[in-house]
This record gives sequence, structure tokens and C-alpha cells, in this order.
Amino acid sequence: MDFSSKVRDIIDFPKPGIVFKDITPLLQDPCAFQTAIDMIADRHVSEKIDAIVAVESRGFIIGSALAYKLGCSLVVARKAGKLPYENIGVKYMLEYGEDELQIHVDALLPGQKVLIADDLLATGGTIEATAKLVEKLGANVVEAVFLIELLGLGGRSRIADVPCFSLMQFS
Ligand code: 5GP
Repeated sequence: MDFSSKVRDIIDFPKPGIVFKDITPLLQDPCAFQTAIDMIADRHVSEKIDAIVAVESRGFIIGSALAYKLGCSLVVARKAGKLPYENIGVKYMLEYGEDELQIHVDALLPGQKVLIADDLLATGGTIEATAKLVEKLGANVVEAVFLIELLGLGGRSRIADVPCFSLMQFS
């Protein structure tokens, strides 16, 4: 399936100079969305995945569908201040300033096998922080999965110790 025709470029969003990859056309196409989730999930049907760690916010969409499909836990990694229970956090650098992702302290058990899910891999900062959260709880990242990978931003090399899979790659 040609997923790339289901992603549109939005010029100057969310600010001038940025070309934003909009995945909503893919989500709106039931066949494309279902096939995308099935293709990612099929990579992991032969091993027991304990949990999907889904990254706020579009990662929640991908992650929840994957958790349902694989019959495993859904864990949310959220921006600072959003989680109601005791949590741990990891800060990471943005182009301007820094951000923080947090996870509940009881979200994962040591030794559990985890997939991290997000819609897009760019510089890798978000996924690097998420992988650190998983490691802090003693769980193991089997793979980080994405709909889209932007090549040339160094994302994959930044998280060299985390296997990555992306359905689509753009330069
Ligand atoms: P990174 O931390 O790898 O530089 O950025 C990835 C994060 O930013 C992901 O959580 C993703 O949702 C968001 N992101 C950055 N650029 C885009 C984009 O062009 N399209 C979409 N859909 N998400 C983006």
C-alpha cells in the first residue's frame, strides 16, 4: 500500500519555516489505518510484547491501536504535569528550550518487553527520552515504531541502541 499518498505536507505549521507531516488523511482512511497498524503489529506477533508505551499525543493513536491488536498493556508517556499519579520524568532538548516526558512509576515492571509508539521520528529527542523512562523502570525496549521517519535529521543514530521501524521514510 502507498501510505505516502495519505500524508500531506502543511507548509509553515506550526510556525514559519516548518513543513509539517499531517497524518490525518491516513487516519481517516479505514483501510490505510488498519493496514498500517497490522503491518507494525505483525512484526511482533511471534514474541510476547508486554506493553506499548505511547508518546503524547499522536503516539496515543498509534499505540492504543497496537495495544488492542497485540493484546498487551497500554502505557502513556505524557508531557510534564499531565499524569495524576506518582511519576518519573526525563527532560530533553527542543530546537528552542527543553521539554519533559513523564511516566507513572507503576506503569511497567522490570524485565517487561516494550514497544514505544509514536507517529513520527525526526531528531530522535522524544524517543530518546521515552526510552530512558522505560529503562528507568527496568523494562526493555524491543523496538520503537513509527508511521514516518524523517531521514537526515539523525534520529535513528541518536538512539543507536534502540531498534527502530518506520512504515514511511521521507527525506
Ligand atoms: P523528534 O523528537 O524526533 O525531533 O520529534 C518527534 C516528535 O515531534 C513526535 O512526537 C512527533 O509527533 C512530533 N513531530 C515533529 N514534527 C512532526 C511532523 O512534521 N508531523 C507530525 N505528525 N509530528 C511531528
